[in-house]
Amino acid sequence: MRFVSPALKHIVFPALSRSGYLRYSAGAGPAIVTYHGVFPAGYEVRNPALDGNLVYADSLRRQLELLKKRYRVVAPEEFLRWSDEKQSLPPRSVLLTCDDALRNALTEMVPILQERGLSCLFFATGASADETPSMLWYEELYLMLLDASEPFTLSLLEAGISVGPITASERHACWWNLVERLSQFDKELRRGFLNQIRSQLRIAENWRERFVQNPILASRFLTLDVAGLRRLAAGGMSVGAHSLSHPILARAPEDLAWREISESRRVLEKALGRTVWGFGYPFGNAATVTGRDLRLAEQAGFRCAFMNTGGGFGANSLGAKINRFALPRVHVTADMSLAEFEAHISGFYRSLRKRLLGGDELEAVVEA
Ligand SMILES: [Zn+2]
Repeated sequence: MRFVSPALKHIVFPALSRSGYLRYSAGAGPAIVTYHGVFPAGYEVRNPALDGNLVYADSLRRQLELLKKRYRVVAPEEFLRWSDEKQSLPPRSVLLTCDDALRNALTEMVPILQERGLSCLFFATGASADETPSMLWYEELYLMLLDASEPFTLSLLEAGISVGPITASERHACWWNLVERLSQFDKELRRGFLNQIRSQLRIAENWRERFVQNPILASRFLTLDVAGLRRLAAGGMSVGAHSLSHPILARAPEDLAWREISESRRVLEKALGRTVWGFGYPFGNAATVTGRDLRLAEQAGFRCAFMNTGGGFGANSLGAKINRFALPRVHVTADMSLAEFEAHISGFYRSLRKRLLGGDELEAVVEA
């Protein structure tokens, strides 16, 4: 759960950022930042739940300038040496990461990084080892539900799923419920259920074409294909794995979770001809990742693995409590102001949340 009151966002964070308090109070590092891509120019944000994880190009530029000025952005390989305990990192070091490897990662984000001489660790799914681009299944599902006329009902007998009638206000909860339940199945079975959902919602078979044909929608929604992934790597970026097909691992049976984790490393290494050492858990919060999944990532031969919660300075300096397979990250969202971004990076936000709400979301996963 994220809390941001208007007073924090508009008064407290900007004052602490301006005064230098956030920078000077930053605990031991490093801090790790998660992006999910950059809106292509001309893209109209459709829905906060669907688009809220990407950022505008201008926001990214301002955030990177702030990091360059006040902190030190490290290369992914330097970070790996730190994680392997072979090298220490200077104070206030920040690692940039980006999940999902959408096409906009290459077309919008990489040029902004390159202009500033920065490198980033991109977590790609197994789909980016394919010859043809595809869409993230849970985004496809959300788009289909947005297109459905309400109220709608769905019945997937083989999956034991029967929902509805669903009205507009229930759509988001219905979507997440379906994401949880369809995460039990491998990507082929899941594909069959998505086709059934499409036909029950009376959406045309070729509806995905508009996302392929329109360059702005393609950049926003399509994943990189193998040629794009290789260009990303050739552009000085590092590539990590993000599972084969982006299920909620916590909902997948163990044999499926194992395949999703270990095979993603294998297919990406084969596609790139280089070692893939990092794993980013799909969704990556305490509700979607279990202690079992941390163990599977280690058994699959990854050297470290990344959550998508609990990050900022101080989070990686807990001595014996550091778990290289549950590295916390700061999840950057479209609505985050620059001062709010710095409050997250500095660790101020995390400790404030802990003081106000108690507990630490990440500890629950590590201890599970
Ligand atoms: Zn993801």
